[in-house]
Amino acid sequence: MSFILSLQNISKSFTGKQVLNRVCLDIEEGKFVTILGPSGSGKTTILKIITGVENSDEGQVLFKGNDITELEPQERRIPMVWQNLALFPHLDVEKNIIFGLKLRSLGDDEIKSKLVTMLDLLSISHLRGRDIHSLSGGERQRVALARAIILNEPIILLDEPFTGLDYDTAAKIQLELKKVQRELSITILMVTHHQYEASVLSDKIAILHEGIIQQYGTPQDIATNPKNTFVENFVKKADIFFHPEDGQARRRADG
Ligand code: ADP
Ligand code: MG
Repeated sequence: MSFILSLQNISKSFTGKQVLNRVCLDIEEGKFVTILGPSGSGKTTILKIITGVENSDEGQVLFKGNDITELEPQERRIPMVWQNLALFPHLDVEKNIIFGLKLRSLGDDEIKSKLVTMLDLLSISHLRGRDIHSLSGGERQRVALARAIILNEPIILLDEPFTGLDYDTAAKIQLELKKVQRELSITILMVTHHQYEASVLSDKIAILHEGIIQQYGTPQDIATNPKNTFVENFVKKADIFFHPEDGQARRRADG
């Protein structure tokens, strides 16, 4: 089996406090994988170590089998949607989305054509010339996703992408994201503290607690065969069931 991304024994401490303790994780190409853990469990730190904006104390990050641990962030070309989105407030929607492509010095025609496809894919064509300030939370989230997906890299990292959105908006964007991910066969690594979100979106979930991946498996594996009491109690909080026909997680309230 070949993995698009592998974390090998990643450890990290901040001022003497160990946050990550030999974390190992293999991610298959084309899958939606989620690291699920409580607030403060080190999820954002893992994404920072993968993108290279933070260094691990020990361990390696492999991308398609190559060790990228020592590469600068821009050399890694791994797009990340930050929790606060980090959109450029002084640029409109279009300029935000094409920002990364401009840095890659593509031709104007190619950029325009990719932009039009991306606006359409995320249903935001009508927002093209809008100011970032004038957008709703859900619209901003779509712009941030478009800005990452348009780079056409095989993997995207998402940090708590639905926090702060109301339930209906989050559910709608989740469905669309899953569809786009399948259509484009991109790999997504998301981190969240939200059991429900992780269960409905992911092919596999890694439960992170006390610096260690407690369990890595399908949402159904984890819900039905929790390896320890932490996992059991943590996933119990999700108000979900697994549909007998397709095995997909659904919210109880949605039937
Ligand atoms: P999560 O994203 O799971 O909520 P984080 O990865 O942001 O968790 O943080 C994990 C722990 O590491 C927290 O206790 C946080 O305060 C600490 N931490 C993260 N970054 C730093 C830093 N740059 N300096 C000191 N402590 C940090
Ligand atoms: Mg975080």
